[in-house]
Amino acid sequence: MTIYLDYNATTPVLPEVADLVYKMMVDEFGNAGSRTHEFGVAAKRAVELARGQVANVVGAEKSEVIFTSGATESNNIAILGLREFAEANNKKHIITTKIEHKSVLEPIKHLQKQGFDVTYLNVGESGDIDVNELKAALRDETCLVSIMHINNETGSIQPIGDVCQALASHEAYLHVDAAQSFGKYPSDIDNPRIDLVSVSGHKLYAPKGIGTLILRRRDFTKPPLTPIYLGGGQEKGLRPGTLAVPLIAGFGLACELAQKNAQKWCEHAAFLKANLMDSLKALNAEFLCNPTSPYVLNFSVPGVNSEALMVQLKGIAAVSNGSACTSNSYTPSHVLSAMGLNEEKIAGSIRISWSHLTKTVPSDEICRSIKELL
Ligand code: PMP
Repeated sequence: MTIYLDYNATTPVLPEVADLVYKMMVDEFGNAGSRTHEFGVAAKRAVELARGQVANVVGAEKSEVIFTSGATESNNIAILGLREFAEANNKKHIITTKIEHKSVLEPIKHLQKQGFDVTYLNVGESGDIDVNELKAALRDETCLVSIMHINNETGSIQPIGDVCQALASHEAYLHVDAAQSFGKYPSDIDNPRIDLVSVSGHKLYAPKGIGTLILRRRDFTKPPLTPIYLGGGQEKGLRPGTLAVPLIAGFGLACELAQKNAQKWCEHAAFLKANLMDSLKALNAEFLCNPTSPYVLNFSVPGVNSEALMVQLKGIAAVSNGSACTSNSYTPSHVLSAMGLNEEKIAGSIRISWSHLTKTVPSDEICRSIKELL
């Protein structure tokens, strides 16, 4: 049977989370906005419980959590939502990196077309930004710095603690896309200097279609976002629409479980990674960045094309050769290109990602499949 090794693309829903989602769909199905009866009250209670469970992961306040449909929507609300403030205050400069997810790069590109100036930070071959380049790029009119935590394609971990320090005496809002790290790799994203955190439920064993944007208060004031949709005022007017109570309740439980088990899950993931790396070293595999998340390995073996390897791995392991979100385009990965990798390495790049649910990674079969192509 094929082993699923594409957890960076999405994760299964944990059984206890699925049970709760089912209960909230079938039995406790009230609208959290219905104030006139107990069905609404129970739904609202479930939402507020989940809000606390999500906030706890990064030491935020319950009132700082806005539920969205996922990290794409959170990124859009965070970035496009700052437009009015930036224009009114003549702060139309944004700093981001060349390796962000498209759901960050595209809204920023949209603002660029509307007259914003954007600095795209480089990453070295390691996949990391240089915080000195960030410091040099800061201007009085910088309103937003948007830097992801863990990259979805390579697992590179940006030095968010150093970024926070670099911004300590600057007013720019700091947005972190934590879709690949929230609840899985907690280090640094609880830093109170981070104003906006985007999260995706389906990367964390909750269903698809739920996520959050956390808006931290700085000096008692929240980031001045203007909503991009208008409606019934839910989620403090920032994300109007009837709340997806079953998904929210499931997401809350998934966050609680992730927080409780983060260290154990991380250690297991690191063990799997070390074993896989040991096996691949014998084949002269090149690991495409460093340091990286314990949950993913992106590598390339000289002379082996990733499309051919994925065919070879059919029936053995479900892996990927780039971000699933961009898989309908055949352009080389913008992340690997930004790291300065040559075409051959990019064409050979394979991403294998796992979780605490992965008992073993079939390293022997993977290595045999690679050898068959050499
Ligand atoms: N940012 C990153 C880093 C991601 O990995 C993803 C999902 N691939 C997203 C944003 C988008 O998340 P969602 O699927 O919840 O919209």
